Amino acid sequence: MLLKAVFKPGKAVSLLLAVVILISSFSFSAFALTDAEKQEYKNQIEAIKQQIAENQAKIDALDNEASQYDGEISALQSKIDALQDKIDLYNQEIALIDKDINRVNQQISDVEAEIEALNKQVKALDEQVVQLEQKKADTYVLLGERIRASYMSGASTPLEFILTSDDFEFQVYLERVELLQRIAENDDRIIKQLEQNIIDIGAKVAEIEDVKKRLNTKISELDEAKLEYEEKKQEQVDARKVIEDAEALIQKDLDKVMAIVNKLDAQSAEYQAAIDKREEAILDLEDKLAEKNTHYGSGVVEGDMVWPLPYEDTYISSSFKWRWGKQHNGIDTCRWSGTHGADVIAVKAGTVEVANWGYGGGYGNYVVINHGNGVLTYYAHLSNITVSVGQRVTQGKVIGQAGNTGYSFGAHLHFGIMINGSWKNPCDYLTRYTPGGKYIQATD
Ligand SMILES: [Zn+2]
Repeated sequence: MLLKAVFKPGKAVSLLLAVVILISSFSFSAFALTDAEKQEYKNQIEAIKQQIAENQAKIDALDNEASQYDGEISALQSKIDALQDKIDLYNQEIALIDKDINRVNQQISDVEAEIEALNKQVKALDEQVVQLEQKKADTYVLLGERIRASYMSGASTPLEFILTSDDFEFQVYLERVELLQRIAENDDRIIKQLEQNIIDIGAKVAEIEDVKKRLNTKISELDEAKLEYEEKKQEQVDARKVIEDAEALIQKDLDKVMAIVNKLDAQSAEYQAAIDKREEAILDLEDKLAEKNTHYGSGVVEGDMVWPLPYEDTYISSSFKWRWGKQHNGIDTCRWSGTHGADVIAVKAGTVEVANWGYGGGYGNYVVINHGNGVLTYYAHLSNITVSVGQRVTQGKVIGQAGNTGYSFGAHLHFGIMINGSWKNPCDYLTRYTPGGKYIQATD
């Protein structure tokens, strides 16, 4: 077994002193209860039972008072339920109308998209017209230039020419006139063609504008339909509002009644909590009456006792043996990974009998748990205590943390078992955690 005992001169004397102080500081109930004591406990139990009965009567009265509101509550609730059914119907109707409105909105945006596309077409056609007009203007300019050229070459008009020219010149003139005429005809054709194009485009634009007009009419119709749906919806919303207002009024009445009932329930719960506390007190008194809570008994340890440090890496630094001229009244146990602050647990269910802060006659901060049958366990040198006297603890309950308080040199847990006033070797009673989480009978 692992032993890490560190001998310190003077420790033996101090420990002896500590144990003497410790033992003398407890008032063991070494003797059975007297008849008078038993009677006193019985009287206390009876008195508490009487208080419980009084509280129960108050609870019954409160419950009775609360139940008088049952009819009113269920009547109000069924009214609310009926109104809520109506509201649900309105909600369904409104949801359907919303669907219609969404559909119309979709249609409107589709038509708007169509109009937008047509607008683009019109714009493109308008640009074409501008180009054609430009071409027409250019052609006119050309034509003008040609006519000017013919004037500048001689006579201005045929009549003027006939009066002033001879035959040959007239012949040349006629040829020129014919040529000019042909050019003019050609220009005229081009202009006419351009004008025809412009007219065609105008017709196209007019067609498109016609379609746009129809689409706009359609949008107006859709807007009207939407307006109708919205009016219909508003009617439903208004009707629903009437029902909702009625429901709110009834809900107010219900809230008032529920507030009264809740208050009664809260009072009832308070009385119930008082009863629970008193029932616990009776259990304690019955324990005392049965002499369970004394330091003497059969000495039987029922069930397992687990290792007080709930870890797999513990070792015994000093075992239960004759040491420094006296018996070491327990074992010292540590953790390889560090003991200070490690959790210390109740090795077995019991009642906290001592939760001492201070030097503790050398034990430092320490806890004693009474397991009944005359079995006590001691946990010494704690850095912290997390239980209080009278508290019932289950096996494995953390009662504090290991430390180095009192007469101690280095953090460790001193653990002792006293049965009917005698120290026992804890290893004869404890199971140990092993790596892998199994329990084995402890040995030292
Ligand atoms: Zn020790």
